[in-house]
Amino acid sequence: MNDKSSVLGNMIEPIDVRLEQQVRLQTREYIRRASRLFDCPLAMIPVRFDLRGRAAGMYKVINSERMIRYNPYLFAKYFEDNVATTVPHEVAHYVVDMLYGASNVKPHGLEWQRVMRSFGTEPRATASYDLSGIPVRRQKRHAYQCACTLHSISTARHNRILGGKARYYCRNCNTALKLANSE
Ligand SMILES: [Zn+2]
Ligand SMILES: [Zn+2]
Repeated sequence: MNDKSSVLGNMIEPIDVRLEQQVRLQTREYIRRASRLFDCPLAMIPVRFDLRGRAAGMYKVINSERMIRYNPYLFAKYFEDNVATTVPHEVAHYVVDMLYGASNVKPHGLEWQRVMRSFGTEPRATASYDLSGIPVRRQKRHAYQCACTLHSISTARHNRILGGKARYYCRNCNTALKLANSE
């Protein structure tokens, strides 16, 4: 028996470039605010949207290059909340790193809390989001074609199709998904 389930509809799509741009602008705005509040000129740093899994954001220093990474899936699912909390949260890590040196203080210690309060944001260290629909592991995806578009499906589903155990249909055009020609 084939289990007829839909590929579209249960996976969250990452935010698009327009929303990414909005998040970048918000990040810059907080960096600018911190520069004023702490009387310390802070450079703009790269903002990436390549974070996956459970974390909504991350401030990272790699070979003295500083950056903020966001999870475009969690932002898609909880956009307003992440803009209001994750953005100041990660900027506050950057500010603390520049003011005190990240290795000299606790990650969510008093210094970080003070920066968060100065932004008017509650210093909450972690958020727990419902992760359904969010890819929590980096998985290999497979390209499948219906009559209207390309779909990206998981290895588990791909194997079910290959084993003849399941067939998936596009919610939009209702045709069965077929493995796309490899490019
Ligand atoms: Zn943190
Ligand atoms: Zn379709």
